[in-house]
Amino acid sequence: MDVTAKLLRVFLVEKQIRGLQTRLKAAERFLNEQTNQVTQLDAKKTSIDTQLKQLAAVAKQAEGEVARLDARMATIREQMNGAQTNKEYKAFLTELNTFKLEKDKAEQSALESMTKVDDLKKQVGEIETQRAERDKLRTIAVTERDARAAEIKDRLDELTKERVALTADVPGDSLRLLERLVNTRGEDAMAPIEIQDRKRHEFTCGSCQMSLPLDTVSGLMSKGKLTTCVSCGCILYLGEEEAKSLQPAAPKR
Ligand SMILES: [Zn+2]
Repeated sequence: MDVTAKLLRVFLVEKQIRGLQTRLKAAERFLNEQTNQVTQLDAKKTSIDTQLKQLAAVAKQAEGEVARLDARMATIREQMNGAQTNKEYKAFLTELNTFKLEKDKAEQSALESMTKVDDLKKQVGEIETQRAERDKLRTIAVTERDARAAEIKDRLDELTKERVALTADVPGDSLRLLERLVNTRGEDAMAPIEIQDRKRHEFTCGSCQMSLPLDTVSGLMSKGKLTTCVSCGCILYLGEEEAKSLQPAAPKR
């Protein structure tokens, strides 16, 4: 058996494996999406938690400031009661008013922090709802993925063994070329030569449809030599029908 025929055997098993895995891969993609969404929601929540901690610190500081100002103002009020002159009284009053303004500011800051805290807490609630929903979807996705994997397991094991057995028979560099093409081109890693006109030696690549010079395909046609398409790089092979039609006609008796 020539190298192209050996590669084709591996490739056909490879195609079956990929076909089997289609639904599993779709299930895996869906699962990954759900996991990503959950991760994103968790990151959002972590970020909001940090903001909440900062706001709590700001509010606490503002409240401390209010208490401190209250104490100062109480002292001044006592001093005002003991004021000896009108001038002295007015001086205390001015000081008191300054503290009042500062206290208003501190109260305002505390209030703003609390309002932001309420907003953020609402957002956390929404995120938690979304996360619970997303988590349900993720659980479904895991079940689905496991079911798809179980469904194909036996056949996949069989095919994997078959592939191992078949690859043992293929020269290493040819096999590496096929593996590279399977990774980059998938089901177009190998393609049949299409015969457009046998007499005029017009051949095209079954993958990219570009024409193939006779030089390129003659080695493949006569000896099954490893041959790639000059345009797209896929490994070419000769289908059964095509091989038959290229046989020289049996001599007439
Ligand atoms: Zn091609």
